[in-house]
Amino acid sequence: MKRSRLQTARPRTALRCIFSSYNGRVKTADVIIAGGGIIGLSAALELAQKGFRVRVMERGRVMSEASWAAAGMLAAEDPTHPAELAQLATLSIHLYPEYLNTIERLSGRLVPLRTRATLQTSGNDGGFHHHDTATCFAISAQEAQRRIPGLASRSHSYLWLEEVSLDPRDLCAALPLAAAAAGVVLQENTEVLAIDGQDGWVEIRTESGTDSAGAFINCCGAWAATVQNLSLERPAAAVEPWKGQMMMVRLKPPLDLEYALRTPEVYLVPRGGGQIAIGATVERVGFDRRVEPSAVAWLRALAAELWPPIASAEVVESWTGLRPGTKDGLPLIGGAGQPHCWVATGHFRNGILLAPATGLIVRQLLEGNPPEVSLAAFNPAR
Ligand SMILES: Cc1cc2nc3c(=O)[nH]c(=O)nc-3n(C[C@H](O)[C@H](O)[C@H](O)COP(=O)(O)OP(=O)(O)OC[C@H]3O[C@@H](n4cnc5c(N)ncnc54)[C@H](O)[C@@H]3O)c2cc1C
Repeated sequence: MKRSRLQTARPRTALRCIFSSYNGRVKTADVIIAGGGIIGLSAALELAQKGFRVRVMERGRVMSEASWAAAGMLAAEDPTHPAELAQLATLSIHLYPEYLNTIERLSGRLVPLRTRATLQTSGNDGGFHHHDTATCFAISAQEAQRRIPGLASRSHSYLWLEEVSLDPRDLCAALPLAAAAAGVVLQENTEVLAIDGQDGWVEIRTESGTDSAGAFINCCGAWAATVQNLSLERPAAAVEPWKGQMMMVRLKPPLDLEYALRTPEVYLVPRGGGQIAIGATVERVGFDRRVEPSAVAWLRALAAELWPPIASAEVVESWTGLRPGTKDGLPLIGGAGQPHCWVATGHFRNGILLAPATGLIVRQLLEGNPPEVSLAAFNPAR
C-alpha cells in the first residue's frame, strides 16, 4: 500500500460541540472510552488528534484480548464477507496507510506489512460470488501452483487478492504509545461497571468510584454487553464471544511462504522469518479461552493439506482470542440508548481491518457530523 504523510497540526475545533450543556460539573475527560482494544484505541487516537480530551478505561491491559490474538489479515475484498460490510471495509482499507503512518510517527515504532497478496480457495461447494477487479481476480489451479510453490493440487476455485496483512503484535506495541503521545490517558486495570447518561454528561461507574465525562463509548469487544445500563440486549444486537484458536509454526530454513493462503476452514498468514500464523476455529462456547490440543492439531492438519511443508514445521505457540460477534455478524456502531452514550463493537472477524474507519466514524458521530458511510446496517438498536 502507498503510505501518505499526515499533517502534524492538531485541529482545535472539537471541544465546543456536544458538551455545552454540561452544567459545570467536574468532568475528568470530554470522552471516556471503555475498552483498550484496537477499536477503543483507534477511536481514542482519532478523537485526541481533533482536540478531544480522551480517557480509555481498560479492565486489564490494553491490546491484550482479541486485538492481540488476531491473524492480521486486512481482507477488505473477501467475497465471503456480508455484503453490508463492503462500504465500511473499503473506507477502512483506504484509511489504512494514513492510519499506520500516524501510529508509526507518534509511537516511533514500525508496523510493517507482512504480506502483500492472498490466495483464497473456495470450499467443496463450488466457486465464489464475485466480479473480477484489478485487485481481486480468479486464477487457474496451475497459476495458483506457479505463484505458490508447493501448493497442494485441489479442484477448487482460486482467487488472487492484492490484500495485505500485518502482525497485530506490532500494533499492540505501537498503538498504545501513539494514543498516549496524542494525549489519550490510558487507565489500565479499571473495569467499567455501569454508565448513566444524563442531560449533558455521562456518569461512569468503576470499582473505585464514579467519573463524569461529556460522552462515553463502549468498545468492550466480546464483553460489551456486560456494561450495565446500555441497550445491548436486543437479539440482533447482543454481543457475544466467539472463540478462535490459533497457532504459530516455524518452517525449516530456507523454506518460507510469501503470501497468505485462505480456505473456508483455515488460513496461513506468514509473519516473516519462516513463522506462519495458522487459524482459526470459530466456536460459540462462552468466555472459555482454553487452547485444546485437538483443535490445534486439526488446524495444522488442514494447513498441511493445503500447503504440505507445514507438516514438518515446528510448532512454536498456540493461543486463543474472543471475537466480539453479533447475531447477524455485523458491527454495532452508533448511539447506545442513553444520552451521550455510544457503542462501537461487534467487529467479529474483521476488527483489525475495520478499526481506522470505525475510529473516524465514531469521531464524526461525536462531532455531530454525518458519518462517512451509511450506518443503517450497524444500528445498535436493530
Ligand atoms: C483468532 C482471531 C483471529 C482474528 N483474525 C483477524 C484478522 O485476520 N483480521 C481482522 O481484521 N480481524 C481479525 N480478528 C478479529 C479482531 O481481532 C477483532 O474484531 C478485534 O480485535 C476487536 O477489537 P475490540 O477492540 O473490539 O476488542 P478487544 O481487542 O477484545 O478489546 C476489548 C477490550 O475491552 C476490555 N474490556 C472488556 N470489558 C471491559 C469493561 N467493562 N471495562 C473496561 N474494559 C473492558 C477488554 O479487556 C479488552 O481489552 C480475529 C480475532 C481472533 C480472536
